Amino acid sequence: MSRIIIRNSTIVTMDAQRRVLTDHVLVVEGDRIVAITPQAEWVAQPGDDIVDGRSRYILPGFVNSHVHTVQHLSRGLSDDVDILTWLHDRIWPYESNLTEEDSYISTLLFGIEQIANGTTTVADAGVQHAGGTVRAVNELGIRAALCHSIMDEGEGLPESWRLSTDDCIALQEDEYRKYNGAADGRVRWWFGLRTLLNNSDALIVKTVEAANRRGTWIHMHVAEAWEEIEYCKQTRGTSTVRHLNRLGALGRNLLAVHVVYVEPDEIQLLHDWDVKVSHNPAAALRVMGLPKIVEMLEGGVTVGLGTDGAPSNCRNSIIDEMWLASLLQKGRLRNPSAMPAQTVLEMATIDSARCIGWDGEVGSIQVGKKADLVVIDPNTPNMQPMHDPISNMVFSMKTENVESTMCNGVWLLRDRKFTQIDVDEVLKEVRERAASIRKRAGIVLPKRFNWN
Ligand SMILES: [Zn+2]
Repeated sequence: MSRIIIRNSTIVTMDAQRRVLTDHVLVVEGDRIVAITPQAEWVAQPGDDIVDGRSRYILPGFVNSHVHTVQHLSRGLSDDVDILTWLHDRIWPYESNLTEEDSYISTLLFGIEQIANGTTTVADAGVQHAGGTVRAVNELGIRAALCHSIMDEGEGLPESWRLSTDDCIALQEDEYRKYNGAADGRVRWWFGLRTLLNNSDALIVKTVEAANRRGTWIHMHVAEAWEEIEYCKQTRGTSTVRHLNRLGALGRNLLAVHVVYVEPDEIQLLHDWDVKVSHNPAAALRVMGLPKIVEMLEGGVTVGLGTDGAPSNCRNSIIDEMWLASLLQKGRLRNPSAMPAQTVLEMATIDSARCIGWDGEVGSIQVGKKADLVVIDPNTPNMQPMHDPISNMVFSMKTENVESTMCNGVWLLRDRKFTQIDVDEVLKEVRERAASIRKRAGIVLPKRFNWN
């Protein structure tokens, strides 16, 4: 088997000692990292595919811990509106009108953007047509923890989504059997709970049982909106995290997304049960509120980064989220030392991997782990000079600095060219399908400015 060699590079390993190795050689064989050696000790073998990493930085592939692959064709469909208009008038009509082929194309567009941003692993909370999404993930070459968007109650739900509690579980058990381990193990199937506003207590309890029985994980939006907390207090008598605790739903395999409205005792509960939290700064700033990420980190909670879906975060780049994550906490606490660059880089790599239970294989560059990595070219005006490279990666870096992206030992982006996907072909489909879904769903946007 031929090896891929990246030589002369600086490797930001994100291993337990957070070593940054200068002038090293990274050796990939098959889907794994098999050696990391100082340049001077490296011996070439016949057939080696050698990449020169001079003046480049190698990072672990980013892990995006909260996404909505099927929302990508609805980018720009719900800007500048409140959360209820967002849901009831724009996104639910849009999502409930998708076909399996739409899901496939949406996931391709999503994946192309992620690969360009150096993201190799994602966790999706809202699959609609599993077959289309899994097919796209397979072709893209990325890694994904997927689950169905699950709702069994709530106001304004489209008729096609109204499943009974038992049908919600049966559907997901079927999908788990079909798709867990698909795409050479790059797909993991999880159980989903959309939000407390749309999930009965019976469903929450049964979901925990079903996920635990299979040793898989649960993806749920938790305490994301003030309206949710009010609703939970009215219908269950207490706030979301306290109520989930009462139901026995907190656990190490729960990925709680957003977690904006929590009190100190709830942060303690998240820590005690080892619940994982996905922080999505752009979506928080835009529509939800400002989460207490610093307090959660100080309380020992594992927090990862995510972009959320395109209609919540049109830019959809984990690189932009790193920058925002730090600024958001500095501004919220009026403390310039809050959320330093190294903490944010951890959140986008090893801690996000921990958040989705995949840290045994991804999230850091170590011998024996999967070969998921990104090559950063810092030789652009926005990245120079490099007084403090780690700082630059969080505060200055842009998508354009991603030169190459590898997942599972395969280059998905090489020298800024996509190797697995015909991007122009996908974009053509995207334009046609997006317009036709909007028409089918009857979504009419108000005209801005005076178009002639
Ligand atoms: Zn979400």
